[in-house]
Amino acid sequence: MFGISKLVTIWHAVWAYLLLPNMGISQTEVDTDAIYGMQSRIRTLLPVMTEQSDYFSNYKLNLYRAECPLWDNDNAMCSSQGCAVDTLEENEVSDVWKRFSDVDPSSKKNETKCNWEHNSQLDYCYLDEVSSEQDCVFVSLVNNPERFTGYSGDHTAAIWRNIYEQNCFVVDDDESLKEKSRRESFYKPGMYPFQLSPKEDDILTISPSVASQEKRMLNKIISGFHASISSHICENYYDTNRNRWTRNLECWLAKVGNYPERIENIFFNYALLHQAFVRIADQLVEMENNSTSSFCPDNLAIDARTKLAFDNLAFIAQQDRKVIMSSKFFADEESQKFKETFRKHFHDVSRIMDCVGCDKCRLWGKLQITGYGTALKLLFEPETQLNDLRPSEIVALVNTFDRIAHSVQSSFWFQLRRRADLSVKFIQFVIALSFKAPTREILSFFAEQLWYIFYAILYICNVPRLI
Ligand SMILES: Cc1cc2nc3c(=O)[nH]c(=O)nc-3n(C[C@H](O)[C@H](O)[C@H](O)COP(=O)(O)OP(=O)(O)OC[C@H]3O[C@@H](n4cnc5c(N)ncnc54)[C@H](O)[C@@H]3O)c2cc1C
Repeated sequence: MFGISKLVTIWHAVWAYLLLPNMGISQTEVDTDAIYGMQSRIRTLLPVMTEQSDYFSNYKLNLYRAECPLWDNDNAMCSSQGCAVDTLEENEVSDVWKRFSDVDPSSKKNETKCNWEHNSQLDYCYLDEVSSEQDCVFVSLVNNPERFTGYSGDHTAAIWRNIYEQNCFVVDDDESLKEKSRRESFYKPGMYPFQLSPKEDDILTISPSVASQEKRMLNKIISGFHASISSHICENYYDTNRNRWTRNLECWLAKVGNYPERIENIFFNYALLHQAFVRIADQLVEMENNSTSSFCPDNLAIDARTKLAFDNLAFIAQQDRKVIMSSKFFADEESQKFKETFRKHFHDVSRIMDCVGCDKCRLWGKLQITGYGTALKLLFEPETQLNDLRPSEIVALVNTFDRIAHSVQSSFWFQLRRRADLSVKFIQFVIALSFKAPTREILSFFAEQLWYIFYAILYICNVPRLI
């Protein structure tokens, strides 16, 4: 009755259903499958840096004293325990970071071959390490992981609304208009937009058709950044009923999964950071040829394992060279002129991070915006050299890459989970129609376990885009 070919067809149909459809990522040269593959190749290297290295697992920032451009910061601080950040005492700061804080800039320059005369003209972000070093504190990123903190409500809505309304652009196409109409749901009775100081280049005065590629890119980066934060919240969600940390599928669907463009923007951000590492790899090769130091700080300050992981990360990224063609952006005269506005808007977003009323969210918000700003600087400011980057920029870049890689992975697992859940529900429905108790209950129980069987099959079959 059931020939081999029919079985094979069913087998293929099951796999096609289980695996996720491949999607192109606009403004890049790749699709989601390619990104899953790229992400799986570097996946073991990132934790070596972000979790095990003294240099990449610490961060220096002005966490408490920076001024919020929108309102008085003291008004809305989150008092939840989940928002608290443990800063490092002086004796806990790793030696590698102490090196840069203790000695005066001129001796630092000789010691590390870094270009400490920072050219802030090229910056896309407000850099605490440059602008307010005296107010900076050190934190361990491992001890203060990004996760659900309970920070929400009108305060967060006002911050996101400001970011989208004041700093993103209206682009003349259907996709962004759809997102814009959704943005109108920001408004709740009694809420009014907070105003940044008026800009001469106010978004409303810039014609939607000018530099539309670049505007779309900025909108994507911000939306991808937001979707990535949401993914981490749902991936590390605190279930108060069961008193434990868990993955929360409903949370992910509500914040990310039900909006395909948000998933796509996560992948876009991954592509952007990947391309920044390709540029780093090119510079590492040049440096090797000229036998200059590798990156700032150089080998003297960084342990061999960290240095090796960093170099490997860049060289593996280099194997997929053409992910985002940076030469296609800011290419004509009009968009070249627009670059200044683009940089200013991104810079303002980085300042808005100081308005975030939850310490831990502010820490990770600031770090990730600095990471994206560093990637933009590497890709669109050709004169930027690795040695010009400050430690906080390099550390932010690596950690942001790690964060977005997690979001790509989360999107895989959550989408798979959703499919498995739907399958289980369907099977249970068929069982309920076909059997009577107690067979119905027994079969229903086994159907519930299907999810774990799916998992096992995926692992055993070594699905390439997963492993
Ligand atoms: C910089 C920053 C960092 C944060 N970090 C954390 C954290 O580490 N842990 C934590 O628990 N909370 C954090 N929060 C709060 C968190 O982002 C949410 O604001 C909060 O969970 C409330 O979520 P919500 O579902 O009401 O919608 P929000 O995420 O607040 O979104 C507000 C509105 O924005 C629109 N929107 C949502 N996502 C996108 C997107 N990707 N693209 C375009 N539009 C979108 C939707 O219309 C939505 O209604 C942070 C907030 C900020 C501003």
